[in-house]
Amino acid sequence: MRLSKSFIPTLKEAPTEAVIPSHILMIRAGLARQLSAGIYSWLPIGYKALRKIMDIIREEMNAIGGQEFHFPSLNPKEIWEQTGRVEAFGDILFQIKNRDYVLAPTHEEIVAYHAKGAIVSYKDMPQIWYQIQTKFRNEPRPRSGVIRGRQFIMKDAYTLDKDDAGLDVGYDLHDKAYRSIFDRCRLKYFVVGASSGAMGGSKSEEFMVKSDAGEDTVAYCEKCGYASNVEVAQSVALPAKRHAESKPVYEISTPNVKSINELCAFLKIHEQETAKSRIYIHDGQPVLVLMLGNDEVNETKLGSVIGGNVRPAHPEELKEITGADAGSIGPIDFKHRIIADNLLKDANNLYSGANKNDFHIGGIDLLRDAPKIEYFDLRTVKSGEKCIRCGSTLEVFKAIELGHIFKLGTKYSEALGVMFLDETGKEKPIVMGSYGIGVERIFACFIEQNYDEKGIVWKEPLAPFNIHLIGLNMKNGAVSEACEKIYIELIADGYEVLFDDRKDVSAGFKFNDADLLGMPIQVIVGEKNLKEEKVEVKNRRTGEKKVVELNKLLELLKKPF
Ligand code: ATP
Ligand code: MG
Repeated sequence: MRLSKSFIPTLKEAPTEAVIPSHILMIRAGLARQLSAGIYSWLPIGYKALRKIMDIIREEMNAIGGQEFHFPSLNPKEIWEQTGRVEAFGDILFQIKNRDYVLAPTHEEIVAYHAKGAIVSYKDMPQIWYQIQTKFRNEPRPRSGVIRGRQFIMKDAYTLDKDDAGLDVGYDLHDKAYRSIFDRCRLKYFVVGASSGAMGGSKSEEFMVKSDAGEDTVAYCEKCGYASNVEVAQSVALPAKRHAESKPVYEISTPNVKSINELCAFLKIHEQETAKSRIYIHDGQPVLVLMLGNDEVNETKLGSVIGGNVRPAHPEELKEITGADAGSIGPIDFKHRIIADNLLKDANNLYSGANKNDFHIGGIDLLRDAPKIEYFDLRTVKSGEKCIRCGSTLEVFKAIELGHIFKLGTKYSEALGVMFLDETGKEKPIVMGSYGIGVERIFACFIEQNYDEKGIVWKEPLAPFNIHLIGLNMKNGAVSEACEKIYIELIADGYEVLFDDRKDVSAGFKFNDADLLGMPIQVIVGEKNLKEEKVEVKNRRTGEKKVVELNKLLELLKKPF
């Protein structure tokens, strides 16, 4: 493709709303442009790379027996009402005002609709149906460029099976296909066991990449691959001690001491000797949650341990319930339910709040002084703690979800009456699985992992072009003649070539554009080298340059350096 005839509007600066590298670079390199919040237009070379991602996905989906569909985005609302998902999606679902239509945020309903009455016998299954289609979600905070859009392209796949054993097979096939897709896209990713949220169903796993732009927080062990959303992550952490002898309980005046750190500094004690109290309201009743030192209550764990409706108590409620404000609350003489983190189990000689402002209590023996206490895993894992699986060090970081595989089960087939006859002639609901990949997220995450201060650094499978051919002074007859010849030869040799044939652009400008656009190899044709029948070849990733004789160019390109 000739740059002189192409629309590649590169920019020196990105608009201020772009903060993360992939967003900045996509705009600066002229790959995409925003139309409205969370809505992007793909420009030609951006779309070229996006298509390469879709091709890889297609190949891997076809390899596991997937059949490609194209379901409509405009869906009758009625079908979505039957599964209760108009309500479940709430404001995320785009609804058409003058018609009873919705814009599909995913396609479980439509797959089930077409399976109904068409898949009649166990003999008609298994089926793997997939599509690469635009999805619509009214995300409240579209951000990070195409990573969270209101319109985005998803590869969504669905398995239809007669039983759970069939579903297991389909699920494993997708797990393998997804790993191949992300490997082929040259992404560094990891897999996290997850909850299925609004989708329903049992087992689900998320494919994620580490990124500060992520909205999930995960605990990850580099050594054994243990990865878990912090909402459910566990670790091995040092428990509080039980000393041979319990001291008696005593009150200590601690003026203006509120935090655990302040308490430790004031009393010259270690965090491991302290217990922090948090008050929650559980179905209208106060509960004191006791944590070791500076450990944070993990509200997801708390919710699943005690069930019902749980929320932190408001500051004004604290005084009423305990007689003190936050920072002075503790388990001694607390009149309601107390639950504590496992690390505090049976600990003694602890310090905690006195339920009296500006006072703490020492010598607390939980066995003796709070005998009804219940222990659970309630803490939020922290970076640096030991992996629960292998004992190596855990890292806690932000991550972006690239893909998600779910064992849906029969939720949708039951809601829509999608039945089949099994081997014994009995009618049963079809067992479904659902599998999604965000195509733009692959694109953006690839850039997040492959850029430098000059621009994008593409790797071969996704690069819009293999070679960026730069004619330095195209007004010079010899240079332009040589470039034209090289351009034709490279194309004939099977390369995709972006040819900077612009006449009125300086060499410096061309170099900057080439580095910003980031094709893996640059072939630079200038007067000086050409006089000796030579051209320069640059590896964009390493910056390494080689001057090579013209007739050796194709040979050099064959073995990448
Ligand atoms: P998230 O938690 O990030 O909102 P999700 O759980 O809602 O994701 P799924 O419903 O599982 O996502 O959709 C499958 C895939 O589609 C996701 O793994 C992600 O790659 C992509 N995706 C989801 N929402 C968006 C969005 N708003 N913009 C771009 N891609 C998205
Ligand atoms: Mg979502």
